[in-house]
Amino acid sequence: MNLQSTLRRRLAERRERHLYRELKTLAAAPGPAARVDGRELVAFSSNDYLGFASHPAVIAAQQSGAELGAGATASHLVNGHLQIHAQLQDKIAEVTGREAALVFSSGYTANIGTICALVGRGDTVVSDKLNHASLIDGARLCGAASLRFAHSDLDALERQLGRAAETDGNILVAVDGVYSMDGDCAPLAGIAALCRDYGAWLMVDEAHGFGVMGSESLPAAGSVAAAGLGQEDAPVVMGTLGKAAGNAGAFVAGPRELIDYLVQFARPYIYTTGMPPAVAAGGLAATELMQREPQHRARLRGNIDHFRARAAELELPLAKSASAIQPLLLGCEKTVMSVAAELQQSGFLVGAIRPPTVPAGTARLRIALSAAHSEEQIEGLLEALAESLSAQKAASA
Ligand code: PMP
Repeated sequence: MNLQSTLRRRLAERRERHLYRELKTLAAAPGPAARVDGRELVAFSSNDYLGFASHPAVIAAQQSGAELGAGATASHLVNGHLQIHAQLQDKIAEVTGREAALVFSSGYTANIGTICALVGRGDTVVSDKLNHASLIDGARLCGAASLRFAHSDLDALERQLGRAAETDGNILVAVDGVYSMDGDCAPLAGIAALCRDYGAWLMVDEAHGFGVMGSESLPAAGSVAAAGLGQEDAPVVMGTLGKAAGNAGAFVAGPRELIDYLVQFARPYIYTTGMPPAVAAGGLAATELMQREPQHRARLRGNIDHFRARAAELELPLAKSASAIQPLLLGCEKTVMSVAAELQQSGFLVGAIRPPTVPAGTARLRIALSAAHSEEQIEGLLEALAESLSAQKAASA
């Protein structure tokens, strides 16, 4: 069969299984809004947890960053590492309480690049089963043996560490700090203790923790700090600038040696063009705001608490999540698609998450809350959800 007919058949099969992903083209709209097909919707589908994608200081910094040049013009090691990148790295190191940081163009490549640089043949990567695709792909690509453990199950992790310890190689344990499709936090204190016992290196993906949680002294550092842990417990931390920072790009933060090493060995850092100066300037402004304006975090916290309290009253199928990610587990792909379509009709944009992003039978609506949402917008979503879900229930009864 020729290429096109093979691909047509595969795509048709995806559609039949309600797994086809529509690529929505949104018109740019400020704040938690999205314009789709000319209609203004309230978006609960972005990762702009603090509303920084439309913060005037971030936008202004990004505009003036463009004065430094539209592009970095080369890879970091050749000609593309600018002062603005160095300033951003210093600020990230300060906010995360780490010795140093290194910026990457995306979280996806930061995870792959870091795992592949740190471990290889003869070593073992031990991963949570619900890890983000970029950690999974890093574990696959690096050439190390790959062991997985049941989600956040410390006994299962210890069993895998026992197996890995039978070999002579290094062990890297990789977990999400906050799970992107479930919103729950990893039991990091227990994971770090096991890593200590087995001499394993702990790598935590802070994509959804950076900026929104932390400790008293490092309030925006992420889930590692929130768990009372530091660089000695979790030496490798990856965070993204495309979520709470409202921007783009990512970083790895940790001991000086880790950063020096990644500059030498992380191929997705070495062999790609540096982050555009405007993006670095926007990321820097957003990271500074995380320190200077704690009110955005407090507002997000208030929105999460309000959403959960009202959703419980309405008996919505809430997951155990204290983060900005509040999934509603519906199970069936078709139901998720039809509820998401009804919500869109009512003026709300919500992510319909299906396999292979999540395990079969666990399709869900992924509601992402932001400091930029108003109480009325959250209330409106809850009412539309309650109505749509009870209609679904009545139809299937
Ligand atoms: N890790 C996690 C947990 C994520 O959710 C994401 C983004 N979906 C990434 C890594 C990748 O980050 P980026 O979008 O910067 O490539």
